[in-house]
Amino acid sequence: LTRDDRDLLLSRIRDVADYPKPGVMFKDITPLLADPEAFSALTDALAALCEKHGATKVVGLEARGFILAAPAAVRAGVGFIPVRKAGKLPGATLGQAYELEYGTAEIEVHAEDLGAGDRVLVIDDVLATGGTAEASLELIRRAGAQVAGVAVLLELGFLEGRSRLEPSLDGAPLEAL
Ligand code: AMP
Repeated sequence: LTRDDRDLLLSRIRDVADYPKPGVMFKDITPLLADPEAFSALTDALAALCEKHGATKVVGLEARGFILAAPAAVRAGVGFIPVRKAGKLPGATLGQAYELEYGTAEIEVHAEDLGAGDRVLVIDDVLATGGTAEASLELIRRAGAQVAGVAVLLELGFLEGRSRLEPSLDGAPLEAL
């Protein structure tokens, strides 16, 4: 990203206080999506990361990860794989449960979409605690594929997702634009 592009992207992210619950500062990317210049700059930057890290496939994390990952995959010329919340994919799936602040969640991927020989870049909008990204890396490895890295638009540093993710990254990069 150039400094100008970085400033443009930051200017199109809206902070919404106390959403979805008190104490959370929600990073709303809808103004960025609505601005074709900003969305295109972000797509270019994500596609460049695919190429830089030799990704052969891109995983998008439901739901905002889909919006960012799909055009980046097309621009980079690689396939797009959705990782969805449990119960949404119709075929044979691999599932991975993970801890939330209260309770647990589970994500799934179509087992046939990933396999040996794939190098996968995971894309999402925000890295918060890192729990979702961590679970997606487990899924990718259990499917027999390699992790090319994780790329996010924003990293909320104070939640320390980067250190949580480190063991499952196993040397692969975490790129926060
Ligand atoms: P986590 O598993 O804690 O890293 O949470 C990551 C998921 O929750 C991502 O898919 C984000 O889209 C969403 N998320 C968490 N915190 C925020 C936030 N403050 N603003 C926007 N999205 C968030």
